[in-house]
Amino acid sequence: MEEEGGLPAKQPWRVLEFYSGIGGMRYSVMKAGLQTEMVEAFDINDLANDVYEHNFGHRPFQGNIQTLTAADLDRYCANVWLLSPPCQPYTRQGLQKQSADARASSFLRILEIIPQLMLPPVMLFVENVVGFETSDTHQKMVQILEESQFEMQEFILSPLQFGVPYSRPRYFCLAKRKPSSFCNPEFNRQLLHVPELLVGCNESISISENGQLTSTSDKMLQTCLPIERFLEFGNSMNQVENGTSFPPDTCSDESSLKQYFVPSNLIERWGSAMDIVYPDSKRCCCFTKSYYRYVKGTGSLLTTVMPKTRDKTSLEELCLRYFTPREVSNLHSFPKEFEFPEHVTLRQRYALLGNSLSTAVVAPLLHYLFSEP
Ligand code: SAH
Repeated sequence: MEEEGGLPAKQPWRVLEFYSGIGGMRYSVMKAGLQTEMVEAFDINDLANDVYEHNFGHRPFQGNIQTLTAADLDRYCANVWLLSPPCQPYTRQGLQKQSADARASSFLRILEIIPQLMLPPVMLFVENVVGFETSDTHQKMVQILEESQFEMQEFILSPLQFGVPYSRPRYFCLAKRKPSSFCNPEFNRQLLHVPELLVGCNESISISENGQLTSTSDKMLQTCLPIERFLEFGNSMNQVENGTSFPPDTCSDESSLKQYFVPSNLIERWGSAMDIVYPDSKRCCCFTKSYYRYVKGTGSLLTTVMPKTRDKTSLEELCLRYFTPREVSNLHSFPKEFEFPEHVTLRQRYALLGNSLSTAVVAPLLHYLFSEP
């Protein structure tokens, strides 16, 4: 059986992973259990490619995505594109120059190639920060996709909605080229903030009188696991024995505990701006690429001493520490096999993880994207 454009319609789907970083998309594809062949990954960052190669045994194409041509892309005979372009143009810290920012141009450039392709993708998945949905890059993306006969459904979701005690809301665009279609076409061109739609194709979804999906996010929050389930080092900073979900990382660079304690001068200076969590907390803040370099707004810090009264104890007494890279990857729901090559420094590990994504969120989104009505 032949599909439009001459591609065989049978699986496995041939996937291209743009802006592959350390491979969060690829782990999500694996977690979703999809029949795919990862045909190629693309990233300009040498170090990210080292990490990718270390874990997947394949080195991504190391170059600027902006230089790829229609002929280059057609050669891969791919039918799925996964893209997590750099997010800085849309974040509050960025200058909000949006598509005028050079970092957005490779993304628009690659989308603009779609109409020129002999074999355009059948499915497309885009991840970005919240704020992207109101940018002019988003507007152009929608225009290009509509002109190329794609149906779209958009989401803003956080790991908190999937039982993981981690707040990292992100924007996602799912697109399918006609005649391919979504399981729930009534949500085409909508931006959804709840994950109910993803639970399974052909399952009934509860829709309220005003036509909106009813949110069970509050219920989800209550069912989040406590943070301690994601730690490699217990409260006493001894390695936790049986009962932890994740084994400690054996890499020597990470395993020295001293380096994770927050120095007292930082606590004095920035204490009031710190987001502090306890092992039994059911939420922590998004880890950014500047975690460990700056404390303000870059991610949560963990208490290692249980205070008798949480309100009155001074910050110094809580013996705050940073989450380790292994713990950040656990909160991103990366598999336990994931590891960094030894030469990647601690700061670089945090930076790479900060740019990556939650597979707990992306896997069900991909599963939904790949589902046929
Ligand atoms: N999803 C990835 C991270 C995406 S962050 C993960 O799981 O790790 C964006 C990535 O895009 C970075 O790794 C950056 O090196 C890469 N990048 C940015 N601009 C690029 C360009 N023009 N060409 C190739 N790669 C680029």
